[in-house]
Amino acid sequence: MKKTLLALGLSLSAVISSADDFSSVKVPQFDVPEIGGGVGLIDQQKEKMIGEKVFREVHHQFSTIQDPWLEDQFMLVFTRILSQTQLGQPIGLIVVKDPQINAFAVPGGLFALNSGMVTSSKSMDEVAGVMAHEIAHVAQRHYSRSQEAFKGQGLLALAGIVVGAVLASKADGELGGAMMLGTQAALLDRQLSYSRNQEREADRIGMQFMYSSGYNPESMADFFETMNRATSRLSFLPDFWLTHPLTTERMSEARLRANQFPHVPLSNNQQEFEIIKWYTSVISDQANEQQLKILAQQKKYAGLVALSAFYLRQGDFVQAQQQLDYAKQMNNEHNLVSLIQADIYLGQNKVDDAYQSIINKQRTMPENRALAYKLVEIYIRQNKPKDAEKMVNRFINKNNRDVSGWLLLQQAANLEKENPMRTINVLRNRAEAQYWSGDEENAIKSLLHAQRLAKGNNAMTAKVDARLKTMQDERKLKI
Ligand SMILES: [Zn+2]
Repeated sequence: MKKTLLALGLSLSAVISSADDFSSVKVPQFDVPEIGGGVGLIDQQKEKMIGEKVFREVHHQFSTIQDPWLEDQFMLVFTRILSQTQLGQPIGLIVVKDPQINAFAVPGGLFALNSGMVTSSKSMDEVAGVMAHEIAHVAQRHYSRSQEAFKGQGLLALAGIVVGAVLASKADGELGGAMMLGTQAALLDRQLSYSRNQEREADRIGMQFMYSSGYNPESMADFFETMNRATSRLSFLPDFWLTHPLTTERMSEARLRANQFPHVPLSNNQQEFEIIKWYTSVISDQANEQQLKILAQQKKYAGLVALSAFYLRQGDFVQAQQQLDYAKQMNNEHNLVSLIQADIYLGQNKVDDAYQSIINKQRTMPENRALAYKLVEIYIRQNKPKDAEKMVNRFINKNNRDVSGWLLLQQAANLEKENPMRTINVLRNRAEAQYWSGDEENAIKSLLHAQRLAKGNNAMTAKVDARLKTMQDERKLKI
């Protein structure tokens, strides 16, 4: 096992110490089944650390969409596809606010997709196709094969280059700095781009993942063709095609391969995807009022919901309510409609109405994060910090990288006027929100502040110290 680790050329001290930690675990470490290409448990730990680092970095460098409802729509697809692999649990999914078509997966279970990727797709199965292709690259560990091009730099460097590659493509060219220059050079050398064989393999295996998780493999071929038509009109190639060269040969192969699968109906109904797509275009500022009005006038449900969300974002609660009422006449049951309704009420300071609009639905779907967090916002407005904390903690305990959750906990902790630990708790929650948004420096500052305030309280000091040490250690990992 350690041999594999060394062979990968990784010199992270944290990785080595995690290897030592495992010798005290009762499960015999050599019995751990190895996954694709001889990667064992230690590597999975290391990949998780890298994935989390990239998660923070992407949040730090990009404008991301923090919308539990939307994130969870894609997370569902990601989880379904990932469950067909041996890659373990997902770290997270990030929706980047960018109209360009791009998406990437990172070892450790992270997936990032641009809003432009969603708005260019015709169905959720097409989005699933891109995810499956990217996940196949990770599952087949293509990155470690192309790693030879980055001798000695290790996986983390590669992850940095993946992020840098996305940054390098940004039109303003301001972000990324020195890292970007190196990345552009790497891109020019085509070192980062996958080989034709790797592309073929990712298409083939990705389609198998799609099929076994209930998505239509034809959609991957569809997306390639749509993109090929779109890019022939552009003077530049979207990043996605820079790193995943698309040839006519590859397109026809993908089509032939897709035809070999038994027919799979599209995973969700088209109206549902239209809602996701138009909502994405609204919250990523890709849609304009005129466009949405046309859809709404045609009494398209997705258009009505999106136009309502559009007015809500502008603080025009009257028009938002009007469009939502039209949508409700067609279907009153959609979760997004309930969420928008609650927000319209909250915007008008009708907190009790907001509560009534969501409580029954939240109780019937207690696992739904978007509904739960909306209820938590209401609890906070009702000055019920205990109820708020209890509800958020159910989700944070399962996924501590949830920035939205930490921000809500920070607000709730601030309401606990009687609690002597109030300021310390606010700082601890703020530190987590900052940390997972990629602001490692200020996260550590918040915890140092909490540490000073906790002096004399041994239990609290121990908690703060432990978390601080982890953050400081992880901050040293450079990508
Ligand atoms: Zn590819």
